[in-house]
Amino acid sequence: MAVAAGPAPFTAADFRRRMARAAEQTSAAGLSGVLVAPGPDLVYFTGYLPVAITERLTLLAIQPGRPAVMITPSLERPDAERAPNAAAIELVDWTDGSDPFTVFAPLLDPDGTYAISDSAWALQVLGLQRALPRTGYVSMTEALPMLRAIKGPDELARLAAAGAAADACYEQIVQVPFAGRTENEVAADLAALLMEHGHSQVDFTVVGSGPNGANPHHEADDRTIEDGDMIVLDFGGLKDGYGSDTSRTVHVGPPTAEEQAVHDLVRRAQQAGFEAVRPGATCQDIDRACRKVIADAGYGECFLHRTGHGIGLTTHEPPYMVEGETRPLEPGMCFSIEPGVYLAGRFGVRIEDIVTVTQDGGRRLNSTSHELRIVR
Ligand code: ZN
Ligand code: ZN
Ligand code: ZN
Repeated sequence: MAVAAGPAPFTAADFRRRMARAAEQTSAAGLSGVLVAPGPDLVYFTGYLPVAITERLTLLAIQPGRPAVMITPSLERPDAERAPNAAAIELVDWTDGSDPFTVFAPLLDPDGTYAISDSAWALQVLGLQRALPRTGYVSMTEALPMLRAIKGPDELARLAAAGAAADACYEQIVQVPFAGRTENEVAADLAALLMEHGHSQVDFTVVGSGPNGANPHHEADDRTIEDGDMIVLDFGGLKDGYGSDTSRTVHVGPPTAEEQAVHDLVRRAQQAGFEAVRPGATCQDIDRACRKVIADAGYGECFLHRTGHGIGLTTHEPPYMVEGETRPLEPGMCFSIEPGVYLAGRFGVRIEDIVTVTQDGGRRLNSTSHELRIVR
């Protein structure tokens, strides 16, 4: 299948807006700046991902009132200069045999406290502490959890396209025969479909049939799917840099009354979570809305995980829809609502949509039917 041309690339203005917001949030949090390591954070601010993420130091510093500066190994400088946001960043390089931390240290506040990317290596944090013994470091997702959480319209368009692609995979996978094939074979079909529908990376292809579906962490194994099995399908990855993640539960042949009832229950819980989405509601409100439906039906003990997670440049990121997360929802946030019921040794059911917060509620980025689909 031909893959349509991707979306227009992010512009330097997009990246500058993100860096300005980081500087603002940094000041508001009383921090000296943000130190951004290679990975999704660096892609977010610069569009740059070093060819290979290695022990060689690459680090971007965004500090209020100072120009953004990135230290890069001299051999990678030509690549860094081609980054979409290179014009807005001062580049400083270092050569093998020199100490990059000594080069980088004068550019930072010697008494500062910095939020640093969760994906920074311990090697790098220790190097910074050695060069600047009075500095302090905190986790970026803990100190600035909302930094990447509120998506711009350009990001939402990508997330919607990734969701639509995952939905197209679902409509195709329910056409293939399940009974008599292994979970691994169906998972391989799902991975191939995701790539066919424009994904560049497959993050997970869960096929949890029969008792395997009762383990929320089960991915897929060599179990042969049988007539009468419930099957949890949960799959996603990255398309044009943004994540997809959806779950549906299907059944081989007609379900029992109990299987149908449990599925209906999870469906009602997912709907309740969705209806709770609006600006000002808290993340834990979404979790509570789903959990209440399931607990009221007597299955509270069988809902084994939080209700959801943020999604963006990665398939799992803040904010988390979990008890204790009292931050309010804001328009532009994007996260999963994925309640489940897991009956040990028997079967599981999970239904998951990605939802974005709008001015007056929520909008689903997955639109396949929530009905229990009968497969062969
Ligand atoms: Zn069954
Ligand atoms: Zn999922
Ligand atoms: Zn998920």
